[in-house]
Amino acid sequence: MDKKPFSNNKSKGSKQGKKGFKNAGFVALLVLFSLVIFAAYGQPGNLKDISTNQAVREANNGQYSKIEKKGNELTITKKGESQPSLKSTVDPNASLKEEGFNTSKFEIKYAPEASSGSLWGTLLISLLPILLIGGMLYFMLKSAQGQGNQALSFGKSRARLYGNEKDKVIFGDVAGQAEAKQDLEEVVEFLKFPKKFASLGARIPKGVLLVGPPGTGKTMLARAVAGEANVPFFSISGSEFVEMFVGVGASRVRDLFAKAKKNAPCIIFVDEIDAVGRRRGSGMGGGHDEREQTLNQILVEMDGFEQGQNVIVLAATNRADVLDPALLRPGRFDRRVGIGLPDRQDREAILKIHFKKKPVSKTVDLDALAAKSAGSSGADLANIANESAIIAARNNHPEISQHDVTEAFERVAIGPERKSKIMTESDKMTTAYHEAGHALVGHVLPDSDPVHKVTIIPRGGTGGVTWFLPPEDKVYTSLIEFKDVLARALGGRIAEEVILGRDRITTGGGNDLQKAAEIARDMVINQGMGSKLRDQVFHVDEGMMMERIVHERSYSDDTAKVIDQEVEALITEAGERARAVIKANMDKLEALKDCLLQKETVDADEVKEIFKGTTLPKAAALY
Ligand code: ADP
Ligand code: MG
Ligand code: ZN
Repeated sequence: MDKKPFSNNKSKGSKQGKKGFKNAGFVALLVLFSLVIFAAYGQPGNLKDISTNQAVREANNGQYSKIEKKGNELTITKKGESQPSLKSTVDPNASLKEEGFNTSKFEIKYAPEASSGSLWGTLLISLLPILLIGGMLYFMLKSAQGQGNQALSFGKSRARLYGNEKDKVIFGDVAGQAEAKQDLEEVVEFLKFPKKFASLGARIPKGVLLVGPPGTGKTMLARAVAGEANVPFFSISGSEFVEMFVGVGASRVRDLFAKAKKNAPCIIFVDEIDAVGRRRGSGMGGGHDEREQTLNQILVEMDGFEQGQNVIVLAATNRADVLDPALLRPGRFDRRVGIGLPDRQDREAILKIHFKKKPVSKTVDLDALAAKSAGSSGADLANIANESAIIAARNNHPEISQHDVTEAFERVAIGPERKSKIMTESDKMTTAYHEAGHALVGHVLPDSDPVHKVTIIPRGGTGGVTWFLPPEDKVYTSLIEFKDVLARALGGRIAEEVILGRDRITTGGGNDLQKAAEIARDMVINQGMGSKLRDQVFHVDEGMMMERIVHERSYSDDTAKVIDQEVEALITEAGERARAVIKANMDKLEALKDCLLQKETVDADEVKEIFKGTTLPKAAALY
């Protein structure tokens, strides 16, 4: 999915031109240098040039002691002199005899090629240090200038321009998300046929906000809009606006919008807009001011768009609740497209897309995989498909088998198996009781999801895993379902306590307790499911660190105390219920523990078989 961006060619071209010019200057300097040196080392300049006829005459008169011939040049040494003082030229193809020289009157030396080579050799050697120093200077200059360029380009947006045909994304590549696609189809129409809307006096929206959890295909959909409308697509991430230096965010926004206007019709896509678009006014410290300036600039630019400019700004976020209301005003991001986690049908469609180009065995059941992957995002499913291929390749399978897919699913959902991690016998035993405890409590309580698999093979960071899967996609969770989830989360720790005694409980339950505490707090604070604090919610802004200290919360210290008590009550109750279930079904706990120690992994059907005839004690039943 990695697209090759082609960035602003124009600026690149001009930069290269400048560099070329500098290169030429450098070469000229070098040539000058070598000429000077050549002159110094070459023929002494004080040789007197004489005509060939004069040379022949004087030579035949016996006035010369030595003639050196090199190509068409003669270097002549007079009798009684030790150094040559004359020079002349002859036809290079004719011998001296043919020229009329009486060759017995003087010594002839034919300057061999090697001599000129050695001249060049000495030249090169003497030039080498200069070349080296020159080269070093050149590179130092160049890198320094490169840094200078970079510093200058800080204010430039890093927007990447997509839109080349090869890696175009279209709606067909995005599985499911029918409603979102329908909404975005309209945006495509705006970009393709602006006149149609303008003629009816319709105001084309400037901004469209894509809202949805991570990995649901927001970025993909935005690119598909560009692909469908066949327009350029400038993509930038919110965090890129504010990175590194204060004061560049706003100028980057200006630059980006200027670029986009030049390329209209086009799409500007601001990914993760919450990085800059958080509510203003709670500012403390420089980071906030920077963010605000950037955000203000975005607002200014969007207001500055004129009708018919035909630039549409798409933005994506998974935190629409923290966005500044000014962003959502009409004329800015006034359209909102919700993108949810895929339902079962969509999951299957997504899996099909991602398995399409891979060799898959006929036994692979994507329908079943879609059924058990409730809560997975499109990105998770793409990841499962990729992991399947990796696992199949590592197992040297010619095609992806059902087993590879199952392993990939588990790896993505709960982390890879750590078979090599060796546990002591007593740790293994404790883990078996612990996991059997989770499974037993989950199985016996009527509103818990069924057990999918229990294993004491370490996975990810845990000693073992008990895995519950909802039989179908659920939209809501009831209070009693929450309570059963809490009880089964504590089931592991309570089983350890019942079997080994309070002193021997282990750190294996730490994670469970943390998760339970989170759920209980969410129940009380966000869902109004407390017993005293009924039907009230208590907003906590999970903003930045500073905000949390300053604005902290919208309720009093007394309420905070009550919330803590409520959470504690929920956890205590869950522990009691888990204990009641375990004590009433000790034989089943032992049976699953034995099975786990023997087989390490027990699946849904076997668990059901072992747990046949469990009883729900009164103390654990809530109604
Ligand atoms: P987001 O921007 O919402 O976090 P992305 O658009 O980056 O999610 O999606 C991440 C990856 O997940 C995509 O590259 C794609 O492979 C996969 N994906 C997500 N949703 C879908 C979908 N509906 N159809 C096909 N692939 C999807
Ligand atoms: Mg994204
Ligand atoms: Zn546990």
